[in-house]
Amino acid sequence: MNEIQNAYEEIENIVGTKFVSDKEPICYSYSMNCDFTLQGIPDIVVKPRTPEEISGILKVANKYGTKVIPRGNGADLTGGAKPIGDGGIVLDVTRMNKILDVDEKNRIVTVEVGISWSEICEQLSNVGIGYYTGTTGPASGFSATIGGGLSNNTVGGGGAAMYGAATEQCVGLEVVLPTGEIIYTGSKANSFRDKPFTRFGLGADYSGIFLGDVGIHGVKTKASLNIFPLPEYRGYATYVIKKTKEQTPVERVTDLMMKWQHHRLQLHDFFYYTPATVSGLTSRNIAKGLVNKKVRGGVLYYTTVADTQRQLDYNIERIEKFAEEAEFERLGDTVEEGNVGKWFYEEDGKWQWSNNSWGGGYIFTMSTCLKSPTNLLPAYHKLYDDWTKRNFAKMTEIGPGGSAGYIAFGVYPSYIDVAGGGGVISTIEHRETQEELWKDLIITQIKELGGVHYWMGEIIGRALVDSGALTEEYYNFMITIKKALDPNRILSPGKFYLTENY
Ligand SMILES: Cc1cc2nc3c(=O)[nH]c(=O)nc-3n(C[C@H](O)[C@H](O)[C@H](O)COP(=O)(O)OP(=O)(O)OC[C@H]3O[C@@H](n4cnc5c(N)ncnc54)[C@H](O)[C@@H]3O)c2cc1C
Repeated sequence: MNEIQNAYEEIENIVGTKFVSDKEPICYSYSMNCDFTLQGIPDIVVKPRTPEEISGILKVANKYGTKVIPRGNGADLTGGAKPIGDGGIVLDVTRMNKILDVDEKNRIVTVEVGISWSEICEQLSNVGIGYYTGTTGPASGFSATIGGGLSNNTVGGGGAAMYGAATEQCVGLEVVLPTGEIIYTGSKANSFRDKPFTRFGLGADYSGIFLGDVGIHGVKTKASLNIFPLPEYRGYATYVIKKTKEQTPVERVTDLMMKWQHHRLQLHDFFYYTPATVSGLTSRNIAKGLVNKKVRGGVLYYTTVADTQRQLDYNIERIEKFAEEAEFERLGDTVEEGNVGKWFYEEDGKWQWSNNSWGGGYIFTMSTCLKSPTNLLPAYHKLYDDWTKRNFAKMTEIGPGGSAGYIAFGVYPSYIDVAGGGGVISTIEHRETQEELWKDLIITQIKELGGVHYWMGEIIGRALVDSGALTEEYYNFMITIKKALDPNRILSPGKFYLTENY
């Protein structure tokens, strides 16, 4: 019997026959994430139910030197939740999907990490006075898990202008280390404390080394997050952005976003959809208000929340004052009149627009979302335009009308997310060219504007190293931590090429 078969049998003893498979259709179905380009076919797929089972699986993997890749719902767009190269074990945590505790007094929820963002918010809305997670994870939150979000430093599903990235709300984690030990980070590391309440204390920020780690430092099994009462009062408005003699639409939008951020207004969200995004949404009949109003060009919308009508009126007055001064054209208040902000907030447009606009499952595969200082938005706009011009012929060859673009949204306290990428049709025949183009776009962002990506998966993490962006000292530091935690190189090997370097 070979080592994989031995490992399989020992894992079967841990989780039971029903929750492990080495059958080809199962392994193929776990060989890709939502990006459709990067593939790695595992030998084994396992769905454990407890941290103890995960600990057992990792010990088996260490014994046989088999790689293990943690996976939430596989909505990753950069190849993070599948093996780099074939082989190994994909460890799917989605059976661990319960809310374990809602500490209403201290406003903290503790969950198993396989629960999705939409599920946790749905359940929390029915507890006590009604709660939510503030930042509601990624725009893929209908399926993406808390564990995936925390590993990817996720932001984008809503609430980010007020609460920041999902990782900001984390006050502690239960993690199974690559060698199988189980720890809780944050205040709950004090074993006399029954419930977590802060990420800091008891040493360094050890939660931090697992947040945004794309699953290289450990397998998260539980997470404790701050929660917030569902706001009683909400306001929204949407503006159509035209160019003026002096300024392009993106320059106008950037100026306004910076004013909003500098004045610390009570913005729950603000999003800029470029003309190309608006045309994508309207041509597919998503965001029907924009269709009704036959909107062409870019739109900017905001959402704000408050505890009282008076406070809401005050927020709206201050926010809209700046838009009025900038002479932005305001659409009507209702969704039908084009108020995308209202649709985004009240009708879960935050999760729908993204899932719906994913092109039916075969386009938009070269994702390059990143964080940026707000003032750089016009430079990113130019970067995308220039890059598209340079690569249009090549993109058109592999997918009709290929182009690269973005949307931008505010993140607390004072920066933006430029969520973008390239839309081409993904076919097996063109995978190599597509990967080449994708990497070129990422490296252009890293080198030209110091791009700070946050889900690194396979392609972005490696492009970061290939571009030479990391100093030798910083990279060695990354290797030192990885080596200390994972001496046998079994957890998510190949990411950032770290395991190749010790
Ligand atoms: C339509 C669409 C919209 C999207 N919008 C956004 C967005 O707005 N913002 C954003 O950030 N991302 C976005 N994404 C990308 C992705 O869906 C998110 O980053 C999401 O948080 C991934 O969650 P997941 O449960 O699917 O994780 P997976 O894809 O399963 O895993 C993601 C990464 O985390 C690791 N991981 C997963 N679970 C664990 C665990 N328990 N322990 C350790 N490591 C783990 C994996 O190894 C992998 O590297 C979008 C994707 C799609 C398809």
